Amino acid sequence: MTTPAHCPGFEQFKNLQSFTCNCPKCNAPKEIFSDEFEKTHKCDKCGEEIDFTSCTYDAGL
Ligand SMILES: [Zn+2]
Repeated sequence: MTTPAHCPGFEQFKNLQSFTCNCPKCNAPKEIFSDEFEKTHKCDKCGEEIDFTSCTYDAGL
């Protein structure tokens, strides 16, 4: 048995999704991509840290 030399991480870049979350402080919308989900993001307006892991996905609304 041989293991295919595929890199599964590379595939993920093909279907990036964007998420929009509102700042908990000033309510300004902030957009991130699915590959940035685990990073720390700060509001462009007020600099408040936005926790995207607890925000609701409301794209398209
Ligand atoms: Zn803000």
